[in-house]
Amino acid sequence: MPDCLIHKDLRINSYGSYLRRRFRCRVSKVNVDGGFTCPNRDGTRGSGGCIYCDNSSFSPGGTQPDIPLEAQMAEGMAYHRKRLGSEKFIIYFQKHTNTYAPVAKLRDLFSRALAHPDVVGISVGTRPDALSGEALELLEELAQSRYVCLELGLQSMDDAILRQINRGHTLDEYLEAIERAAHRGIDICTHLIYGFPGETRGGFLKTAELIASLPINSLKLHQLHAVKGTALADLYYRGTFAPLTHEEYVAAVCDFLERIPAHMAIQRLYGSAPLAIRVAPTWDLKNNQMWYSVINELKRRNTWQGCKLDGECCKVSNL
Ligand code: SF4
Repeated sequence: MPDCLIHKDLRINSYGSYLRRRFRCRVSKVNVDGGFTCPNRDGTRGSGGCIYCDNSSFSPGGTQPDIPLEAQMAEGMAYHRKRLGSEKFIIYFQKHTNTYAPVAKLRDLFSRALAHPDVVGISVGTRPDALSGEALELLEELAQSRYVCLELGLQSMDDAILRQINRGHTLDEYLEAIERAAHRGIDICTHLIYGFPGETRGGFLKTAELIASLPINSLKLHQLHAVKGTALADLYYRGTFAPLTHEEYVAAVCDFLERIPAHMAIQRLYGSAPLAIRVAPTWDLKNNQMWYSVINELKRRNTWQGCKLDGECCKVSNL
C-alpha cells in the first residue's frame, strides 16, 4: 500500500488527513447560508429542483440568510472548537447555488468570510451551468493567497439519469465547467450520488474512470436517499424508487475508491438527513459508522484507494 497519501489505517486519502497535511492543524468546515437561490428552482434552468432536493436536509438549523454572515460563522466556529478542538476553519457556502449571483455579491461574501483570522479558506458549492467567467476570475484571484475549493455537483455521468432526476444540466456542461475551472489554483471537488433508479454498479464504476481522468482534487459520494416532501419520496411511496441496501452501497463505494487516484481526497462517503424527515433508506448510521463500514470492507479485501490503477504507487510517490 502506498504510504504517502493513503492513511494506513483508513486505506483512503481522507479530506481530514489532507487538511492536516496542508494546514498543520485541525481544520473544520463551517456551513453558512449566503442567501443564494438555485437556477434549477427559480425557472431559469428548471423548476421544482432535483428530485431529491430538500435544502433543509443538508444544512444545520443555525444557518439562515437573515442572520449576518459573521454571526453564522461565529456560531459554527464555536461549535467546532468545542466539539472537535478545531483551530482553523473553511467557510462552506453550501445551500443552493453559491455562484448564482452578481459577482459583487460573491466578492462581498467571500471576502468577509476570508477576513476572519482563523479562516484559512472557503468552499463554494455550485452547479456547472452557474459558473460565470467573472465568478471564476474572482475565485482564481482569491486562490492566489487562500485555500479556495469549488464544489461542482455532477451526481451522475449518465445524461438519461440527469434528465430523470431533473438535474437541469448535462455531462458535457460539467466537463466544460471542469475545463474552465482547472489550472487556476482553485481546488476542485465533485459531488456524486449512487443509487438512482435504473443505475447499475457498472455505470457507477464508469463514473470512477471518468473522474480519475479529470483534474479533480477531492470527492464527495453519498447514497441516494429520499427525504419528506421531495419528488423522490413520492417515487419511493409509489414503489418506483428502491433504495440500496447498506451492503450494496458499501461494496460499490469500495469498488469505486479502488479506481480513484490516491491524490484525490475523499470528503464524504455518506449522506444523512435528520431522522424526522428521512424516508428511505433508513439506515440508522452515524457518519463515522459509514466511514468504518467502508474502511473495514477495504481491509477485508486488502485493497485501498487507487489500488486498481496501473502505476498508481509510482504516481503517488512522485506527488
Ligand atoms: S442544484 Fe442543488 S439546490 Fe438546486 S435543485 Fe439541485 S440539489 Fe437543489
